[in-house]
Amino acid sequence: MSTRELIFDGKEKKIYSTENPDIVLIHYNDVTTAYGGIKRAVIKDKGICNNHISALAFQVLAKEGVENHFISLENDREQLCRRIEIIPLQVVVRNRLAGSTARLLGVANGTVIPNTVFELRYNNDRLRDPMINDTHVLALGIVSEEELKRIYSLTAHANEVLKEFFHKAGMELIDIKLECGRTSDGKIILSDEISPDNCRIWDEKTGEVLDKDRFRHDLSDVTVSYQKVMERLEKAYEV
Ligand code: 5GP
Repeated sequence: MSTRELIFDGKEKKIYSTENPDIVLIHYNDVTTAYGGIKRAVIKDKGICNNHISALAFQVLAKEGVENHFISLENDREQLCRRIEIIPLQVVVRNRLAGSTARLLGVANGTVIPNTVFELRYNNDRLRDPMINDTHVLALGIVSEEELKRIYSLTAHANEVLKEFFHKAGMELIDIKLECGRTSDGKIILSDEISPDNCRIWDEKTGEVLDKDRFRHDLSDVTVSYQKVMERLEKAYEV
């Protein structure tokens, strides 16, 4: 499908319109940022890994009944997705306490918990994506009460499917930042991406960190880790 105009120029992805107004082409590049864009680098072939990992995850999610924007993998760096209206909300789902929440609550990174934690963030660069609660979401009119319920059930279901998705390849999903969007017919579906850029993924046996924390904390072999995640998943799913 031939591309037309650039409709979104993000740090790590570019989105192009296509001949079909309901379909976009998402291009994954190798730029990596952290801490709200303060830390930035080019990590060779990261975009290829994230495009393939995301495509596979979205296909497995769809098979398990989690409606999402993915349509097809076009090439190493691009995928076709349903065009959605962006909802400025991030849902961070945590299976262990790590990162910002471990710091916030004063517990060890990776603390095991008896339940799943859901955090909402207002997706707003100027305000640095502040943590908000359900009543803020309704006060700001980001979504309706019914839509918020749908977002919780969709992201909870996605988390359960993705825990198993990574487990099948010997990895543990520690946490993940998910985003949803609204289709032209008003339905809320899962969007954005599923990759080591927006998940914490640890090796189940060794505890080795296989995600963007390697870049955040200046650990070595970021590309190797992303490739490892892709190869393990592709092997587990016989891609
Ligand atoms: P934390 O709040 O602990 O820093 O992040 C929780 C999870 O959400 C991690 O897996 C992290 O990678 C992801 N995450 C948090 N904020 C962002 C963001 O702005 N962009 C992306 N891609 N992922 C994020």
